Amino acid sequence: MISLPKSKSELTSLISTGLTEAEAKRRLEEVGPNSLKEKKKKAPFQLFLDQFKDFMIAILISASLIAGVIGEWSDTIIILVIVILNAIMGFIQEYRAEKALEALKKMSETHTRVIRSGKTQTIHSSELVPGDILICEAGNMIPADIQLLEGNAVKMDESSLTGESVPVDKTAFIEEIDSPDINSDRHLFKGTFQTNGRGVGIVLKTGMDTQFGKIADLLQEGSPETPLQIRMRKFGKTISLLILLICLIIFGLGLLRGEEPLELMMVSVSLAVAAIPEALPALITIALSLGAARMAKKEALIRKLPAVESLGSITFICTDKTGTLTKNQMTVVRHSSDEKEHVAPGYDNLQLALALNNDVKVGKDGNLLGEATELALVQHLIQNLGEKTYQEILNDFPRIGEIPFDSDRKLMSTFHQMGDQVLVICKGASECIIGVLNDQNDLQKIKKDSQEWAEAGERVLAFSGKVLDKLPPKSEWDKIESELSYWGLVGMIDPPREEVKEAIQECKTAGIQPVMITGDHPATAKTIAKEVGIFEEGDLILSGSELREMSDEDFANQVEKTTVYARVSPDQKLRIVRTLQQKNQFVAMTGDGVNDAPSLRASTIGIAMGITGTDVSKEAAHMILLDDNFATIVRAIREGRRIFDNIRKFIKYIMTCNGAEIWTITMAPLLGLPIPLLPIHILWINLVTDGIPALALAKEKAEKNIMDRPPRPPKQSLFAEGLGWHILWVGILMAGITLFTQYWAIRQGWHWQTMVFTVLAFSQLGHVMAVRSDRSPLYKLGIFTNTPLILSIIGTLILQVLIIYLPFFNRIFHTEALNLPELIFSVGMGLVVFHAVEFEKWIKSFRQKKEEAKLKH
Ligand code: ATP
Repeated sequence: MISLPKSKSELTSLISTGLTEAEAKRRLEEVGPNSLKEKKKKAPFQLFLDQFKDFMIAILISASLIAGVIGEWSDTIIILVIVILNAIMGFIQEYRAEKALEALKKMSETHTRVIRSGKTQTIHSSELVPGDILICEAGNMIPADIQLLEGNAVKMDESSLTGESVPVDKTAFIEEIDSPDINSDRHLFKGTFQTNGRGVGIVLKTGMDTQFGKIADLLQEGSPETPLQIRMRKFGKTISLLILLICLIIFGLGLLRGEEPLELMMVSVSLAVAAIPEALPALITIALSLGAARMAKKEALIRKLPAVESLGSITFICTDKTGTLTKNQMTVVRHSSDEKEHVAPGYDNLQLALALNNDVKVGKDGNLLGEATELALVQHLIQNLGEKTYQEILNDFPRIGEIPFDSDRKLMSTFHQMGDQVLVICKGASECIIGVLNDQNDLQKIKKDSQEWAEAGERVLAFSGKVLDKLPPKSEWDKIESELSYWGLVGMIDPPREEVKEAIQECKTAGIQPVMITGDHPATAKTIAKEVGIFEEGDLILSGSELREMSDEDFANQVEKTTVYARVSPDQKLRIVRTLQQKNQFVAMTGDGVNDAPSLRASTIGIAMGITGTDVSKEAAHMILLDDNFATIVRAIREGRRIFDNIRKFIKYIMTCNGAEIWTITMAPLLGLPIPLLPIHILWINLVTDGIPALALAKEKAEKNIMDRPPRPPKQSLFAEGLGWHILWVGILMAGITLFTQYWAIRQGWHWQTMVFTVLAFSQLGHVMAVRSDRSPLYKLGIFTNTPLILSIIGTLILQVLIIYLPFFNRIFHTEALNLPELIFSVGMGLVVFHAVEFEKWIKSFRQKKEEAKLKH
C-alpha cells in the first residue's frame, strides 16, 4: 500500500521536492502504469481460427473432405493446404492492421509536467504514480485523480465525467488529504479538462482506480470505421451475394449438362472463395494505418483514422497565422514612446512597461523563457537599457496582481508595488488600448502610426498605465482597465516560414483555398497574407467586428471569397467553419487554444498544434502538427491523396482479377467448352491475386499530377473516374484471352488446361504491373521502382514455372510440362492484358493533354 503525506508540513515540503526518481519507479512497479485497461483483445490464435469461420470456406473444406472420401486424397490435402495458406495470409493482414492501429494509438499518448527530485520534468502520463506532484495549467487534460494543493482561479470542464458542460471552480486545500470525491471542489479528475488558472496538485489515484477508470468500461469503443471502410463493407456484402448467385447458376447449369456433381460443387465453391473480395477491408485498414505511420514521420500525427481519407477531399484550409504560417520569432523593429511625465522618476514609462508587463521568466542558465511576443519585448528592452539592469527593474517594482492576456480582450494588465502606491500597466492591441485611455488627444497619432506599421506587416502593441493609491479588491478589477494614459507603441515583425509560400501555391493548384485567421490587425494580416500568396487582388478581408455585425445570409455570400479574417476571436472560427460547410466545402481548421476545440471538432479535419497546442485542442483534433508548420498540412494532404489512389489501385486490381475468374468459368460452358480450371487452380490464382501484390500496391509512390487535380468529392463513388468501367472491360478481356487459349489449345491438341491456368496467372501479374499508375506508362515509372511488388511478382513467376515443370507439383496441381510452342503461346497471351491497360493509360493521358491544350487557348 502506498502511503501519502498526511500533514500540511509534509505536503508543503513534498510540493518543492516531489518524489525521488527511485521512489517513483518503485511505486510504478507496485501500482502499474497510469492507463486504462483496454478491452480484451483477441489472441492471435483466435484471430487465425476466425479465418475459417467464413461460410464458404467451411463448405469448401467439407466438400473437399467428401471428395477425399470418395476420390483422391491428394486433392483434398492440397486444397486444405491452400485454404490454410489463405487463412495465414488473412490472419497476417488482420494482425498487421491491428498492430498498425495500436502503434498509431501509442503515438498520441499525452505528456504531463511533474516535480520530481526537486526539478520540473515532463513525463509520459502513463508513468504518473500516487504521490507525484503535478503542475496543472489551463488547456491541459488532467491525467490522474489529484487533490489541488495550491492554485489560482482553477476551473475545470468535467463534462466527460458528469455530463455537465459549465466549468466548475476548484479551490486549493493543503491542510490534509482526503479521498477523491466527485462532489468535492478540491479534487481534479482524470480525463477532465482545465479551462482556467494554474495550480499544483498531488496525485491520489491512477489508472483504473480513478473515477474515470471506474466508468471506463462503459466508454470503451472500437476504433470507428472510416467512410470508405463502411462503403466497402456494404459493397462487399452485395458483391458476395451476387457471386454466390453466379456460383449457384454455374452449379445448376453444370448439373443440367450432366457434369459430375461433386466436382462441379468443388469448382463453384472454389470460385466463390476466390472471387469474394474478403481481404479488402483488412487491406484498406493496413493501407490507411501504414499511411498514417508514414505521415507521423513527416510530422503529421493522425489521431483519427478517417482523417487519412478525408484529407484528399479538403477544399479549404483555415489556418492560424502566428507560428503556423510564420516562424513565431518576433523581433521588435521600432517603437515610439510618449514623452509625458514619468510615473517613476528615473524611468522611461515605455521602458517600465516593457520590463514589467509580461510573463517572461529568467531560466537557471540566464535564458529568457516565454511567449514569442513578450520575449521580443523584453529582448528589445535589454538592448536599450539605461542605468538599471533588467533584474533591478523587476526588483524595484514587484508584481502584486495581474489580469492575464486573453485573445478575446486582447489586453493584459499587471499591478506593481511602487513605494506605497500601485503602478498599473496595460498593454494590448492598439484599438483595444484606445478604448481604455483617458486622454483622447493621442488618438489620431496612435491610429495613424499603428495603421502604417501594420501595413508594413508588423504586429503592433500599445502600452498604457496609471498610478493608484492602493490596489482595489479583486471583485473590482474589471474596472481597473480604464482611465489610463498612453505610453507608447511597439512594432515587431515575425517573418513567414520559408517553405510556406511554395506550400500555398501547391494548395492553389490542387484546388484548395488557404485562408488566414488571425488575432492580429487587418492591415498586418493582409500584408503577410499577400506576401505568402494567400491574399490575391479581388479577395475579401473580414475583421472580427465586421463579422459580428454581418447577417448569416450576407456572410454565406462572402465566405468563399474571403481569404483573410483578422482580429477574430476563437468563437468566431466555429461560425466560419459552419458557414463554409453550409456551402458544401470541406474544411481543415487549425487551432491551439482551449476555445478552439469546438471549431476543431466541427471541421472536416481539425488540426491541433503539437508544440504550442493545449491538450484540449489536441483531444478535439483529428490530426496534430508536430512542428506547428503549415507546409506539413499540405504534405499530409498529398500523402492522403496518395493513399487513397493506392487503395483504388488495389481495389481495381483485385476486382478485375476476380471478375476475370468469374467470366472465365461462367462463359466456358456457354461457349461449349469444358470447365477450364480445376478447383486447385482457382484457389492458387486467388492466393496470387489477394496476396502480396495487392499489398505492395499500397507502397506505390504518388502520381505525378497528384497535386494538380481538384479535391475528390467525398461522396464520389469508389468506382468513379473509369474504375468500374476498367474492372468490367479488363475482366472480360482477361477472360476472353483465357477462353481463346482454351479453345485454340484444345484444337491444337495442346496441354490446354495447364496453358489456361498459366495464361490467367500471367495476365494477372501483367495487370498488376500496369495498374501501378493511373496515367504514367510503366517504362516511365521504372519496372524496379516498387521493390516489394517486383519481388512478389518474381516469386510468383518462379512458383508458376515450378508448377508447370516440376513433376512433384505436376502431380499435385494436375499440370503437365509445356513444350516450347505452348509456353511461347501462353506467355504471349499472358502479356496481352498488360499492353491493353498500358494503351488505356496512353489514351487517357492523350485526352487529358488535348483538354489542357484546349483550356490554354
Ligand atoms: P494568430 O491568430 O495569427 O495565430 P495569435 O493567436 O498570436 O495570432 P493573439 O495571440 O490572439 O493572436 O493576439 C491577438 C492580438 O493581441 C495581437 O495582435 C496583439 O495586438 C495582442 N497581443 C498578443 N499577445 C499579447 C500579450 N501578451 N499581451 C497583450 N496583448 C497581446
